[in-house]
Amino acid sequence: MPVRILISCLLPLVFVFHLALRPAVGNELAASPSVTAASTINYSAAMRPAFAGDAQRSDLPEYALDLVVDPRTRKLTGAMQLTFKNTTGVKLQDVVLRLYPQFPPDIFGDGGNVRMEVRGIVVQGVPAKASAEARGTALRLPLPAPIQPHETISLSLRYSANIVAWQKGEGTFPLPSYYPMLAAWDGGWRTDVTRFPDRVYAQAALYRTRITVPQGWTATTSGSTIATTAQGTSVTYTAVTGPIREFAFSIGQFASARARHDDVEIVVWHRKGAGLDAAAAQMARHAAASIATFDARLGRYPYRELEFHLINAKRGFDIGAEFPGLVVVLLNGRYTDDTRFVTAHEVAHQWFYGVVGNDIYNEPWLDEAFAQYAATLVEEQWGGKAAADAVRNRHIARLANRTRLPAGLAITDYGKWNTYYAAVYGRGAQFLQTLRSEIGDEAFFAGLQRYYSEHKYGIARSSDVRAAFERSSGRQLDDLFDRWVGR
Ligand SMILES: [Zn+2]
Repeated sequence: MPVRILISCLLPLVFVFHLALRPAVGNELAASPSVTAASTINYSAAMRPAFAGDAQRSDLPEYALDLVVDPRTRKLTGAMQLTFKNTTGVKLQDVVLRLYPQFPPDIFGDGGNVRMEVRGIVVQGVPAKASAEARGTALRLPLPAPIQPHETISLSLRYSANIVAWQKGEGTFPLPSYYPMLAAWDGGWRTDVTRFPDRVYAQAALYRTRITVPQGWTATTSGSTIATTAQGTSVTYTAVTGPIREFAFSIGQFASARARHDDVEIVVWHRKGAGLDAAAAQMARHAAASIATFDARLGRYPYRELEFHLINAKRGFDIGAEFPGLVVVLLNGRYTDDTRFVTAHEVAHQWFYGVVGNDIYNEPWLDEAFAQYAATLVEEQWGGKAAADAVRNRHIARLANRTRLPAGLAITDYGKWNTYYAAVYGRGAQFLQTLRSEIGDEAFFAGLQRYYSEHKYGIARSSDVRAAFERSSGRQLDDLFDRWVGR
């Protein structure tokens, strides 16, 4: 998922996720949670009309989040209700929630400075005592009685956390995965911890959120805002989502730039007076162009909106971090060709990682290589062949040459970030280009579209990619996959 571009002496560009967070707090939520019955929530409001039915899924977990964020005290307090069906196929004795903001600092030294406090946990109507594990990034909640397959589990809790600006002193706050999130099930609850920047491994879920901020502040979220209610000195943003992999939001005193593709609205939010109006407008236009390309080449984006949170960070490189329906970009001073590439790469993650999920610990190439390659399709459509070749040389070929390792290994198999980056982003994307020239455009794009539509809102494996391309091309592709992917 998240991603950054970093110019170093070793690599021309490195994508990385970026979190810069701070101290600890603990405060009670003033308002009591009020959660609307699931059946009355119109999740379809977040979908493009043609995909309204995609949000009517009783098999997906449903979250209700009621949050109050105070940027002056840097504190978030909230209440959460989660209802989900036991789709694991086995009798469950416990449930695991992940606390992603509590991950240790990443290899770039960012993060590791958020503390979440969870209390008042009630599971199936019974107060529960959670035990922390996985270095404080997971909470295991015993169930009062075992839950059979297909039965429903309900839990509620309250929590608080400190919030930290990604760019110190900048005054806006990206807040992705800022709630206890259901762990992924894979024969057991997954509690991976990594120091690489990508972290979230989750199944798609539906969200109804209410976020209260001071007057003058905006909360922009995954999904669509369906109501804005002012009361006293605060304002509450109510939002719903379709099936999304995780919920993210940002708060700030924002200005915005907008663009459209078909019935999808793109909004780029940035701090008022930060001098980002022109960059935001360019980013919105390029995001719209990217959605146009991907709609045609990969299969249609199902949601009504895509938002960006743009921050001027001037770190010497651009950083992008993709979350479903909300992309965070740390700009290096001005909008450049690299920003253009980062924008397209992050938009592509809405397809790969967002709609089609993957085990980012064991098969990270399924989102990163696909996003990297898809970004070059945008150049191919809007800039022409020479522009696409130049981008492929800069962002794929030069990178791929730096390793002989296959693209499909687990992150722990690569050890160093630079090796991981070269293999997963470079060789992985190079593989897709090679596959395309091997089986031809028609079979290649038919295979991509088949893969996207068959695994929509699910979690795909490398074998699913191979199966989709083998069917679209009518060829056995195991040699090619063995050589490039290693699976
Ligand atoms: Zn990426």
